[in-house]
Amino acid sequence: MIVVMNPQCSDGQIDQVISLLERMGLQGWAIRGVGRRAIEVLGTNGQFDRRLLEGAPMVESVLDQADPFLAAGRKPGDRTAEVPLRGDATVGGTKIAVIAGPCSVESRSQLLEVAWAVKEAGAAGLRGGAFKPRTSPYSFQGHGEHALELLALAAEETGLAVVTEVMRCDYVDLVAKYADVLQVGSRNMHHYHLLAAVGRQSKPVLLKRGWSSTLEEFLLAAEYIMLEGNHQVILCERGIRTHETYVRNTLALAVVPHVKSISTLPIIVDPSHGTGHSHLVTPMSNAAIACGADGLLIEVHPQPARAWTDGEQSLDLEQFRSLMAGLRPFAEACRREM
Ligand code: PEP
Ligand code: MN
Repeated sequence: MIVVMNPQCSDGQIDQVISLLERMGLQGWAIRGVGRRAIEVLGTNGQFDRRLLEGAPMVESVLDQADPFLAAGRKPGDRTAEVPLRGDATVGGTKIAVIAGPCSVESRSQLLEVAWAVKEAGAAGLRGGAFKPRTSPYSFQGHGEHALELLALAAEETGLAVVTEVMRCDYVDLVAKYADVLQVGSRNMHHYHLLAAVGRQSKPVLLKRGWSSTLEEFLLAAEYIMLEGNHQVILCERGIRTHETYVRNTLALAVVPHVKSISTLPIIVDPSHGTGHSHLVTPMSNAAIACGADGLLIEVHPQPARAWTDGEQSLDLEQFRSLMAGLRPFAEACRREM
């Protein structure tokens, strides 16, 4: 059970509610996050007087543990949060935000070629891995800071927002120096120290769903970021691992309308990692927009067959242009703009 306090309440008023809980035979744990103030009630014995608690000074509401999304939860009348990318571009407003680019930053010419192509096709953001989380330690691990410099250069030339992954707490400042949005990847969704570290800086965070996580765990990971004060979180559904083998991951699109019904966080879909096959990326992008996604994260490479990483799921430049053109009717049907 969680006692949600008025945000203006003082530490003393929190202590008073904790004392009240103690008199009822319960223990309270103060959650002192920026923006929301609340008390977790430990050891609920079911015999307390709920109305007495609800009537205590500065108590806003008493939530059952079944409703654990203190920062990311949606109350009736709430709208989806609009998270800034760069310039006028946002995620979560009327306009669909497409973030596209290579899996890994390979070279200056590769990155600039993709950046200009995706920009001209209507993308708002440029993705590209500088630090790559690879299953094998012998695989290409990314060009590191040099790749961050290339991403910043491409952003300056094109105006696209840079979205790139950070894997280590001690690299958060470095990545934040170059990126517009920090990505926390699927493998790190449960890395609570990293979530807190990106929550303590001010750039928006793109949080990818852990491939074996439930939706509740996914939203609680977002809470870890928001509790530190950074409410600019964009969720990304990127598929989960199932017994199925014809796709790399099973893209769980039902998460999109469900998140819309329980959370104010914007959500985008990654059909590249979500399927693992380039021929499935366009139909699943259409489906994502049709079910209410606020945007897409798509891997694009000038020559997918020669990509250093994830070539099988990357679109070439022409395929990306036709994907963007084909998305328009789906966006319009959902009263969204491209
Ligand atoms: C990526 O988007 O670069 C990536 C590694 O994806 P994921 O974390 O979803 O596997
Ligand atoms: Mn990839």
